[in-house]
Amino acid sequence: MLKKIVIASGKGGTGKTTVATNLARVAPDPVCYVDCDVEEPNGHLFLNPEIAKRIPISVKVPRVDYDLCTFCGKCAEACRYNAIAVLPKSVMVFEELCHSCGGCVLACPESAIREESREIGAVEVGNSAPIGFLREG
Ligand code: SF4
Ligand code: SF4
Repeated sequence: MLKKIVIASGKGGTGKTTVATNLARVAPDPVCYVDCDVEEPNGHLFLNPEIAKRIPISVKVPRVDYDLCTFCGKCAEACRYNAIAVLPKSVMVFEELCHSCGGCVLACPESAIREESREIGAVEVGNSAPIGFLREG
């Protein structure tokens, strides 16, 4: 039966990685170590995995077609994250603020916004035999 063990703490420096990697090493059953630490995914330093593939992760961000845009401001009104600002002759998209909700695309009366992929990272997949390994790369 598949078992999932989660090692978590809100505070850094408490030994999560040490405990998790050692548990992975001594587990009697086949293990897949998944490093979900968004700030310091350091399990690889202990397990020294061979990375077999890197899967890029992307999100959609809006791109404005200036041939269609009338600078009406409806996209900026619709955006709850203040990720679009409409100026008299340009539309600024703040990609770091964008939540990829697609609201601006729906709100645009001119169909002047299309979505484009923006790579934000990757998942690395490999192994430190016999341990399977995944982490944000
Ligand atoms: S809603 Fe569409 S037409 Fe209006 S400013 Fe935004 S992109 Fe341009
Ligand atoms: S996709 Fe959503 S969050 Fe991003 S700019 Fe458009 S409305 Fe704002």
